[in-house]
Amino acid sequence: MKVTLLHFTPLNVCSHAIRTCWQSFDKSDDGGEKDVALIDRVGNKFKHASTLEHLHYNFYIQGISRALLQELARHRMASLSVKSTRYTLKELKESEAIDYEKYLVFTGNEAVDNASKNALDALQKLLQSGISNDIAKYALPESYKSELTWSINARSLQNFLSLRTNKAALWEIRDLAYIVFKALPKEHQFLFEDSLYKEKEE
Ligand SMILES: Cc1cc2nc3c(=O)[nH]c(=O)nc-3n(C[C@H](O)[C@H](O)[C@H](O)COP(=O)(O)OP(=O)(O)OC[C@H]3O[C@@H](n4cnc5c(N)ncnc54)[C@H](O)[C@@H]3O)c2cc1C
Repeated sequence: MKVTLLHFTPLNVCSHAIRTCWQSFDKSDDGGEKDVALIDRVGNKFKHASTLEHLHYNFYIQGISRALLQELARHRMASLSVKSTRYTLKELKESEAIDYEKYLVFTGNEAVDNASKNALDALQKLLQSGISNDIAKYALPESYKSELTWSINARSLQNFLSLRTNKAALWEIRDLAYIVFKALPKEHQFLFEDSLYKEKEE
């Protein structure tokens, strides 16, 4: 899978929001050490977490399975725009020799991965027989690759990382959670370090 950070809100927007409450703009250092310490103190430690909602992150996530996608979609405090199988199955229909890596997420279990390949072969045959995308898509395996633009605020991202870096989470969404964390701007990562299961528990 691949995660690209498309855009993010600078930290000084969050410190500005916090300083609005006390009208302490004169104490700001334009997103420097003082403002970062304020964000950590108020947004994280004092649990005035609504101030973190001013920070938004926009990601382009590629190469995840539809199994992961349906779990990601459970996180309601985020926005998703997903590649549509209704409009894009043409590429599978028209490919001569199927490049399985392009279309499927593999688990490393040979029997399961072969079953996914067989499902993809069967789906291609259905499409080539003239069945429409809207009907044929019901034969898609959960391993079928998808991609999306995903936007989330810092408060919700803390919740996502804490739930999905946990050992109880599905391996693929756990991988995604760590990759999303690594894609964040370095100067923002302090906001999320306590949400990472690995750093807390291992
Ligand atoms: C290990 C694991 C196993 C899971 N297994 C299952 C499963 O078997 N079946 C299943 O259906 N789901 C399962 N889930 C999904 C889980 O139930 C949540 O839907 C998902 O993790 C999103 O979490 P969330 O609601 O905190 O996030 P979001 O939807 O992003 O919500 C963020 C926060 O906003 C608040 N919020 C959002 N909506 C409401 C609301 N309607 N009312 C009050 N507060 C709200 C809550 O504080 C919530 O934590 C599992 C999740 C994990 C991590």
